[in-house]
Amino acid sequence: MKTSKKESTNSGSRDDNPDANRAEESELCPGFQDVDAFVKYGLGAVLSATKASAGLPQAGDEYDFYRSFPGFQEFCESQGDELLHCMSQIMQHHGCRSHIRDRNKLTGLEERFDLVVDSNDVILERAGILLDEADGVNRTQNPVMPAGFQPPKIVVSSWNRKGSSSGSRSETFRLLHAKNVARPQLKFKEKVDNSNTPFVPKIFIKPNALKPLPSYFSNKQIRKERPEDLDVPAALADFIHQQRTQEHVEDMFAHPYQYELDHLTIPERLLSKPEPQMYKPMAETKLSFIDSLEELVALNGKLCQLPEFAVDLEHHSYRSFLGITCLMQISTREEDFIIDTLELRGEMHILNEAFTDPTIVKVFHGADSDIEWLQRDFGLYVVNLFDTHQASRALNLARHSLDHLLKNFCNVNSDKRYQLADWRIRPLPEEMIEYARADTHYLLYIYDCMRAQLLESNHGQPGLLQCVWNKSKDVSLKKYVKPIFSEESYLELQRKQKRSFNTQQLTTFRLLYAWRDKLARQEDESTGYVLPTHMMIKISEELPKEPQGIIACCNPVPPLVRQQVNELHLLVQQGREMPLLKVRRDLTAARFEPAGPLPHLTLELCQVPLFGPHDASRGSDSGHPQLVADGKLAALFVNSLTGFFLLEVFFLSKELETPAGQRSLSVAQTKARSIIESFENPFRMYLPSSGAHVNKNAKFDPSSKIFEISKRWKLQSAEQQQKEMEVKKKSKEEAKQKNSKDGGRKKARCGSEDGETTPKPSKKLMKSAEKSQKTEPPSEETFKPFDYAQSDLKVFDGSKAKDNTQFDPNRQAQDFRKKKFPQGQKNNSSSGNRSMSYMKGKSERGFRHNWPKR
Ligand code: AMP
Ligand code: MN
Ligand code: ZN
Repeated sequence: MKTSKKESTNSGSRDDNPDANRAEESELCPGFQDVDAFVKYGLGAVLSATKASAGLPQAGDEYDFYRSFPGFQEFCESQGDELLHCMSQIMQHHGCRSHIRDRNKLTGLEERFDLVVDSNDVILERAGILLDEADGVNRTQNPVMPAGFQPPKIVVSSWNRKGSSSGSRSETFRLLHAKNVARPQLKFKEKVDNSNTPFVPKIFIKPNALKPLPSYFSNKQIRKERPEDLDVPAALADFIHQQRTQEHVEDMFAHPYQYELDHLTIPERLLSKPEPQMYKPMAETKLSFIDSLEELVALNGKLCQLPEFAVDLEHHSYRSFLGITCLMQISTREEDFIIDTLELRGEMHILNEAFTDPTIVKVFHGADSDIEWLQRDFGLYVVNLFDTHQASRALNLARHSLDHLLKNFCNVNSDKRYQLADWRIRPLPEEMIEYARADTHYLLYIYDCMRAQLLESNHGQPGLLQCVWNKSKDVSLKKYVKPIFSEESYLELQRKQKRSFNTQQLTTFRLLYAWRDKLARQEDESTGYVLPTHMMIKISEELPKEPQGIIACCNPVPPLVRQQVNELHLLVQQGREMPLLKVRRDLTAARFEPAGPLPHLTLELCQVPLFGPHDASRGSDSGHPQLVADGKLAALFVNSLTGFFLLEVFFLSKELETPAGQRSLSVAQTKARSIIESFENPFRMYLPSSGAHVNKNAKFDPSSKIFEISKRWKLQSAEQQQKEMEVKKKSKEEAKQKNSKDGGRKKARCGSEDGETTPKPSKKLMKSAEKSQKTEPPSEETFKPFDYAQSDLKVFDGSKAKDNTQFDPNRQAQDFRKKKFPQGQKNNSSSGNRSMSYMKGKSERGFRHNWPKR
């Protein structure tokens, strides 16, 4: 009400003023001279409304009391109606669902709240688009076309288009995501590994080693022959990978500098009170932009001479599946350096010499993510870290962000605007360089001040400071963990949404989730770029009958959704075919209470009946036990989309060579069987596993043979685990014997370390193996993994076979569509799945980064 009054005064005064009509032409909108005036006014209105609403009687007794007065009641109702009407109109205006006004009991408060949230999303996104467009970025200028017809990607971004003459230059790259930035991934010498296998450290040389790098890392042969490079289906690549790396798993998952970090002691000089050394004014400090190997080598040499330096990274995560480190800032007491890590990605590891030198302190602020990014992208590790974020916590400062420290210690107001800028853009605009530089420029001085304060606040005793060093060490011991797709990850996400789905919605959600993850890995995009979660939820909730309905759920429509809307439509149809039941939230939620670092990677056999020909993203595992159980190799053909197409061709051809009519298993059958039996995730033992289990959804399976199947599978995996255990025990015993021969000098160290470095999950494996030994007697047949070394691998990379064998989920989908839409309908999705550089992978994103506070 206040709003309308103000508005009328506004317009009133304008009418009175004879000059107003002239002024009107230059006005942004009636009554407002420019954006600032409008915003100021809007903010005022919002503030007073918020204040007023806070002054209303509180829900509960107070409100109930007031409600007992008819006048109050009437007033509330009329105001409420007016408000809802207003909201409804706004929502309609933006094309959102708007049944917020109907007082139907069914559309409860919660649902109305959801409507508001949805609408807010839509409105904000639209505002984002309009702001982009105002900034000179036109989203529609990038038409979605089948690959091959796509115009070459050119770097044309608003900041280099606008030119420097514009006064508002610095305003232009505030954008969250710049458009039309060339994909840096295309330049990477080593392709990004988005496969659904755990991360393996990139390190291959270990400077400052107290303990040598395990042979796995220095063995170029193993490391270079990446299974993804073979032209084989993802599942097979995983298997080959497993075979090749079996004996190295323990090394592969250990922190390469665990030993060094465990034995790191902070020297006396770093535990006594420092005299803070003032930073040089930025203007008087030399800044070097490093984008060549020579410069990087020189920088490393320089750093190796110093007692300390400060480091920070800038990162991009929207147009990449795993994320990309775009920039590294380093500050010494004398100089600032900005390293173009997109350019030097493959060479960054040389900095390990300085980064792992225990005599050099590396100062970061909130290094949690940085430590992971360094490992993931460059194979860099940090030995002797001081994290000012940890120091801020220990000092119990009011806020722990870098801004706060800058303000507090340096009286510098930092400009947060660029934190979420698109750090891939090159050349970097001056403003962004300055911003990035400020992140490390003052950090060494802050490091001094904080150490002094830590000692002061602890009466000169080093306890608190030591504690920060220890906490920092814990941070540097963090290991990068790749997001792993499991059949359950979708439930975790669904649970977070705080809405209940019925079986159809949940199935659709699961299928969309898998589709999104698969595509994101394949195209090397973030899942948020492929299909934002709120849109995925909307589609799952609404279950649109037509492809057009899917489009309508998305605003703006993500390019890959537009491109593959027919695939999505099939997934939704599949969801709709589920028998309609309500899913009890508590059931799905219960399993996830203690959210571990990795999603469960257990087999969900129950979903077999949901398994459709277009559901290619589903793990290959799920379908096969049944096939094995049936003992029909031919059945493999049915499942060509699970990634075994090639295997099938291979084994069929082998089978044809063997004389027919044999009752016992042919060689090919035995091989196929042993492969299939070993097709569990090669790293299962390193993932938290609760053993094979049956998903709650199994209950909804109409043709439930699941329990039977899963039991069999359980047996198989118990068998395999036991086998693995035996092998492990053996090698351990051998190693022990060897160790005792080696003599006592090393023994004390290694002995204690043995226990420490053994990754925990393997203990879990032991337990689960023991358990399964007790509960399930191992079957008679012993498991024999198929030895790929003995087989003719050329079969797999034969160029002839290439076309047929390359796993292409589109193929069938395409055929299907042809039948369904015989003419007319443009099929621009056929090439959507064709990846430029990434393997066809199984998928699912498991977790998100916790962003460090600035
Ligand atoms: P900083 O350490 O503050 O320079 O941040 C490093 C990188 O983390 C930035 O380049 C961003 O990519 C990312 N980042 C920082 N804060 C956030 C945030 N609040 N949300 C998302 N990403 C963030
Ligand atoms: Mn940082
Ligand atoms: Zn930064």
